[in-house]
Amino acid sequence: MIKGKFPNDKFEQLETPFYYYDMELLRKTLIAITKETENKPFHVHYALKANFNPIILKEIASFGFGADCVSGNEILRAIECGFDPSKIAFAGVGKTDKEINIGLDNNIFCFNVESIPEIEVINKLAEKKGKIASVALRINPNVDARTHKYITTGLYENKFGINEQDLPKTIQTVKSSPNIKLIGIHFHIGSQITDLTSFEDLCVKVKSIRNWFKQEGIDLPVLNVGGGLGINYQHPNHFPIADFESYFRLFEKYLDLWENQTLHFELGRSVVAPCGSLISRAVFIKEGIKKNFLIIDAGMTDLIRPALYQAFHHIENISSDEEYTPYDVVGPICESSDMFAEQIMLNRSKRGDLIAIRSAGAYGETMVSRYNCRDLPASYFSDTL
Ligand SMILES: *Cc1c(COP(=O)(O)O)cnc(C)c1O
Repeated sequence: MIKGKFPNDKFEQLETPFYYYDMELLRKTLIAITKETENKPFHVHYALKANFNPIILKEIASFGFGADCVSGNEILRAIECGFDPSKIAFAGVGKTDKEINIGLDNNIFCFNVESIPEIEVINKLAEKKGKIASVALRINPNVDARTHKYITTGLYENKFGINEQDLPKTIQTVKSSPNIKLIGIHFHIGSQITDLTSFEDLCVKVKSIRNWFKQEGIDLPVLNVGGGLGINYQHPNHFPIADFESYFRLFEKYLDLWENQTLHFELGRSVVAPCGSLISRAVFIKEGIKKNFLIIDAGMTDLIRPALYQAFHHIENISSDEEYTPYDVVGPICESSDMFAEQIMLNRSKRGDLIAIRSAGAYGETMVSRYNCRDLPASYFSDTL
């Protein structure tokens, strides 16, 4: 088995657990995305919720990407880290007045609105400031993302987006809101999508909805297809970069854009997941009756994905070259769900070995908590370690 390359000698000095980011891989990923989108009417807004570490954000902003934010504080963080407000989209089902005002004050690119009452509130707040707010309607396309139910967002019985049958009513609201400018339609069907046919289904839907708007006499310069491209969690060493070529080609092929239209993407996971690893140490090896437990010093407070939605992460013992043996890898938190993997093959492990949990750059550090009074994990970067 190939293992990841890590600066073990430097890690030895550090207190575990911590996040380690391979900045070279991040840059290679950003270059791959740029290559597929430059010279096309494509715009990528990086979804901050996947990872809002300032060092990561500054790197992404330096490539000229826009930002997709889901809270007022994310908007402020994005701007602090160098994203241009004119490239910031603001999504979310429950934007508060305070957050809407942050968007208005910073003249962001677009509010992705998810309900009729939201349009009415944005209109009122924009009027107070004498501004016109650009909005895209987030429409629920009823497309199955074929992914875990907690990260599926585009089916009818879902809190996200406006259902198609409510579009006529929504347009009436827009027309009677003088401080709202409708610039586009927005979709986001879910996350960790590896079966690209879900995106083909989405394209069919986007085209039919775009045609419906045209018939209503409404011109939409912005089509936003959200994010969701998955990565290969099983084999991070063989497939360190998501298949951006197939992804962007698919939209190019299936969504023939009209002259005046631009296509917007909101990628999160596929940009940052592969470059991050959670590095921990083996605390104890506990021999059970039928199996052995590898108890590590990282827990669900540091990386909640396995506990929250049974997510798989590839795990490696980066200190040991001994023969492979099966372990259950568990954390120290007082919850049975605090488990990273069951019966996986690892090099025989001993107390103090460094254990890398791979592909943890997305929805890892952003979801840490202080449950059990735990310290928050530090973060280190390959450039500066
Ligand atoms: C979470 C989210 C994204 C990013 O999704 P990924 O699966 O991380 O690419 C994009 N757009 C919206 C509206 C989101 O909620």
